[in-house]
Amino acid sequence: MEETTYPVKIGLEVHGYLDTKEKLFCKCSTDSDDAQNSHICPICTGTPGSKPMAPNLSAVKKMIQLALVFDSKISYDKVIWQRKHYNWADNPKGYQTTISGAHAVVNASSGKFKGINLTEIHLEEDPAQWNPETGRINYNRSGLPLIEIVTEPEFHNSEDVVTWLKDLLLSLSYIKAVRKNAGIKVDVNVSTYGERVEMKNLNSLEKIKKAINYEILRQVENHKKGIVQTRDTLAFDEKQGITIKMRSKEGASDYRFIPDPDLPQLKITKKLVSEVKGTLPEMPETKLARLLDEHHVDEKNAKVLTRNLELVEFFEELINEGIDIKKGLSWVTIELLRVLNYNKKTLEDADVEILPTHLAELIKAANDSKITVLKAKQIMNDFVPKSFSLADHADEVSNISEEAIENLCHQVIDENAHVVSDYKGGKTASLNFLIGQVMRLSNRRADFKSATEVMKRLIG
Ligand code: ADP
Ligand code: MG
Ligand code: ZN
Repeated sequence: MEETTYPVKIGLEVHGYLDTKEKLFCKCSTDSDDAQNSHICPICTGTPGSKPMAPNLSAVKKMIQLALVFDSKISYDKVIWQRKHYNWADNPKGYQTTISGAHAVVNASSGKFKGINLTEIHLEEDPAQWNPETGRINYNRSGLPLIEIVTEPEFHNSEDVVTWLKDLLLSLSYIKAVRKNAGIKVDVNVSTYGERVEMKNLNSLEKIKKAINYEILRQVENHKKGIVQTRDTLAFDEKQGITIKMRSKEGASDYRFIPDPDLPQLKITKKLVSEVKGTLPEMPETKLARLLDEHHVDEKNAKVLTRNLELVEFFEELINEGIDIKKGLSWVTIELLRVLNYNKKTLEDADVEILPTHLAELIKAANDSKITVLKAKQIMNDFVPKSFSLADHADEVSNISEEAIENLCHQVIDENAHVVSDYKGGKTASLNFLIGQVMRLSNRRADFKSATEVMKRLIG
């Protein structure tokens, strides 16, 4: 393989939706997926004469959380909302309100995450959603609180970017500050020999990787031909797998940033910051260390668990229910994941509701031989999307008696005379088939060991 010795620099601007109930400057709900224009008011539709309300405190606290988790320097003074002007159908006021831009003191600066320096973290509002095909505008999204995290241009290839973004997404999920289902949008800046280009609104890791790889090669090829790269804004066309120039980059001055006269300075107090500090959640690394050191979970399983907050929390609750750690592990990392994968679901899905108490009940019943392990697994198959208590299904799940097992064995023998004679003729695998039939007829309520013993006795 050709060695990549080009001088590649990549910097990211990551946008996430803060997980709040209300929008940033009005009381409208943030349930933006509801019917179009169902959560709107004069403020978030930019009706002339409307004035923003004081910024949503919950959004401000989440921004502080992020700043703290990413070791940033929080700004306390002169944090002033700016109007960032541009003309587009998605922008009813003609400006977007943000704590960034030419004159702004940003919310937080000089952060760090996984070896990459974070230039800044700031709050801003989302524009509306314009559909150029129908000409319609959905204002549900207008005014949603966004967080933007800007990195220094310290990445050198797409793999590092993707790995870092995965870690970032995991940490964001632990903080629960960002709406997960809404996803993230990333602007990716890439430079090689010339000026940097900015690729806008890449919304999947796959796209980000493809776009970066394409762009590096394109710039290098152009450089060989003597073409000098200018400061451009590009879009990535996923179908064709190429980047397309949208425009030459507008300088910051083109946005005509001015302080917003309708909003007071954003006062961040030390008291508020220490209050937020007191409620910071455990981060993935701490959680991993605790699983390894405190619970003596093996490293492989500990990593599987901590890569998914819902899963690790589920496991912790299961242990709190008094389930042995070793047993709990396989029920979660093997059985639970099997059932979820089979149904193409995850614990995060809104329609999935599996309670650790219900699984604990099941495991305990299997441990006490009240039901067979097979039966327990079969019951678990029905836990998606919603789990239930064994107590509600008592009559179907209790083990059947020895006598009933023997009756079933007789029935299976009668119905499968040729298989029985195969077995007698030395084909030992036939036994598995016969026992399988007993388990099926018993609706998996026969104890596997007893069924095997009885069957062997009857045909052996
Ligand atoms: P803009 O307003 O142009 O988007 P920002 O300051 O918001 O500027 O973002 C700058 C982004 O560009 C950052 O992610 C930064 O890392 C990146 N960047 C800056 N210089 C370079 C460079 N030489 N090559 C690649 N990316 C760069
Ligand atoms: Mg930018
Ligand atoms: Zn509103």
